Amino acid sequence: MARIDTLFTNAKLADGSLKDIGVAAGRVVSIENAGATAGAARQVDIAGALLVPGFVEGHIHLDTSFYGDTWIPHKPCTNGFDVHERVAFQAENMATAAPMEERARKQLELCIANGSLHMRSHVMVDGSVGLASLETILKIREEYRGIIDIQLVAFPQSGILKSPGTRELLDEAIGMGADLVGGLDPASFDRDLNGHLDVVFGVADNRGVGVDIHLHDFGSLGAFTVEEICARTVALGMQGKVAISHAYGLGDLDADAARRIGAKIAAAGVSIMTNAPGDHAFPPVALLRAEGVTVFAGSDNIRDSWWPYGDGDMLGRAMMIGYRSGFYTDEELSAAFDVVTAASAKALGVEDYGIAVGAKADFVTLAAEHVPEAVVAVPKGRRVFKGGRLVAENGHVIR
Ligand SMILES: [Zn+2]
Repeated sequence: MARIDTLFTNAKLADGSLKDIGVAAGRVVSIENAGATAGAARQVDIAGALLVPGFVEGHIHLDTSFYGDTWIPHKPCTNGFDVHERVAFQAENMATAAPMEERARKQLELCIANGSLHMRSHVMVDGSVGLASLETILKIREEYRGIIDIQLVAFPQSGILKSPGTRELLDEAIGMGADLVGGLDPASFDRDLNGHLDVVFGVADNRGVGVDIHLHDFGSLGAFTVEEICARTVALGMQGKVAISHAYGLGDLDADAARRIGAKIAAAGVSIMTNAPGDHAFPPVALLRAEGVTVFAGSDNIRDSWWPYGDGDMLGRAMMIGYRSGFYTDEELSAAFDVVTAASAKALGVEDYGIAVGAKADFVTLAAEHVPEAVVAVPKGRRVFKGGRLVAENGHVIR
């Protein structure tokens, strides 16, 4: 057995067993029954708390949150939800907000303190802000390296065809260090589904990176767009590298139609991200999982121009997903937990994830009897370990 740097003792695992977990060089090297491992110089007593892998925040916006800034009251759209109008409101609000790095740091620390150790953040890259937001968030990513792993999506919030120069900016963003190419409602925002997807998939294919597209379109337009994204994913051999965020249209289909499209999404290896939004249909999580689709989750907006909610807690998000999906049994509650942990890790391509020998020692402690109880109770008072090092305790990041 490898030499153990730190022994985490009396950790309750999801199967109810009490284990000692040996960690060396940031990875799990042993999992033995409690009391069976001797000789580690440094021990951390988990004291019977539930030990789970670090949460995966699969969709957030580090650049546009006002968390930690003064409260900015929400302004409703004048005639029903309208993405164009919301983008305009956002631009007005951003002009008077606190500096982006301050807001991003506060939001990031909120997420880490709640136990998120992997994250995918969309960052605006378009004709309105150019590459300035990305430059700032890239700096913040460096600052928090070793505490949280962050993927960045170059996100054309103002559209691609409607915002001149965005194609070149998206390409440049990947060159600067963004990890994926984003998109936004290809049909309803740019009003040119193929033109928009040509750019998104063109840049991604050329650069050899993945895609994560915001798709708010409802009903058949949303479902049609999902099918088009799946077809392009297969045509380019990008299975496993493409995600659709929100995909509200999938929530508008009857069960048979949803199963048919679910099978196509699974075959294309496209992941679906949901935050279980409050006031409208969202993808049928259990049905899609049964079809083999990787469904993952994120906070999305936290106290920004789009809505005032959000607390950066992926365990709370699991509760929300379960609550809105009508999940009651232990199996269903565990599925909601899987969405914010293993399934999200798979969608993001996080390697060596989970509590297993060889995995990264990224843990969160929860004062809960087991996973189903944790999902409904959302206990606080967590300890968060990255690579075996304590990085947050009781809601505060330790740097
Ligand atoms: Zn978003």
